[in-house]
Amino acid sequence: MSDEPFPALPEPLPAPVFDSHCHLDLVGLPVEEQLASARAAGIARIVTIGVDLESSRLCAETAAEFDDVYAGVAIHPNDTTGVTDAVLDEIAALAALPHVRAVGETGLDYYRDWAGKGDQHRSFRAHIDIAKRTGKALVIHDREAHDDVLSILADEGAPERTVFHCYSGDADMARICADNGYFMSFAGNVTFKNAEPLRDALRAAPLDLLLVETDAPFLTPVPNRGRPNASYLIPHTLRLMAEVKGVDLAELCAAIDANGVRAFGPW
Ligand SMILES: [Zn+2]
Ligand SMILES: [Zn+2]
Repeated sequence: MSDEPFPALPEPLPAPVFDSHCHLDLVGLPVEEQLASARAAGIARIVTIGVDLESSRLCAETAAEFDDVYAGVAIHPNDTTGVTDAVLDEIAALAALPHVRAVGETGLDYYRDWAGKGDQHRSFRAHIDIAKRTGKALVIHDREAHDDVLSILADEGAPERTVFHCYSGDADMARICADNGYFMSFAGNVTFKNAEPLRDALRAAPLDLLLVETDAPFLTPVPNRGRPNASYLIPHTLRLMAEVKGVDLAELCAAIDANGVRAFGPW
C-alpha cells in the first residue's frame, strides 16, 4: 500500500463488470465511498475477500449490509501456521451464509515462507472440502506454487467452480486451467511492462473463463502503478486485456460479467 493520493477516475467502462477480488477492509476508505467511485467507473459489483478469521467475519458482514457486495472467507495460506479445526469450522459456518459466495483466498504461497508447506497443504485441502460442502466458489491464491496447487486440486477433486485469483501462471498452465474449467482472474499486474508471459497466458485463456480483479489495495495497474488501488481503477486493466485479446471492450465486459455470475451466482 502506498501513502500517495488515490489516482483520478479513469474513463468509465461501456458496460458494467465486477471486481472478483478486492479487500474492501484494507483499502482505507469507507465502503460507501469505494462502491460509489466503482459505480462511476462502471464496476457494479465487488467480491470482498477475507484472509483470516477476523477479516472473513468482517467481509461477511459487509456483504450482508451492501447489495452490490459478496464475500469470500478463508485463512490465507501465509497465515496457516498451526491453524486449528475450530478455526476451519468457523470458516465453514461463515461460508454457508447466503451473501458469502466464495471460499478464499486459500491456496499455496511458496514465495513467502511464513507458513510451512505441511500447514499450507492441510489448510488448502480443508478449504477445498468446505467449498464443496457449501457449494461456493473456491478462490485460489497461487504464488510460485502452480504444480502443487494443480495436483492438490486434482487429488481432492476440484469444486464445481474454481477461480485462480491474480492469475500468475504461463500460457501452458492457462491451457490446463481451461481444460479443467477453472476461471482465471487477471489483476493489475497484467498491465506491467515486464508481464509479457502473463499477457501470453491471457491470450491462451478462453473468453468464457476470464475474470478481472483489483486485489486492492495491492497491484495498482499502469499508469498508476505505485499509487493506492481501489475497484474504480479496473478500467485500466480491462482496456489492456481487451487489446491483448483483440476483442471489443464492451464484448469483454459482457463476457466477464456473465462469467462472474457463473462463478459466484446471481446477484
Ligand atoms: Zn492473494
Ligand atoms: Zn487478495
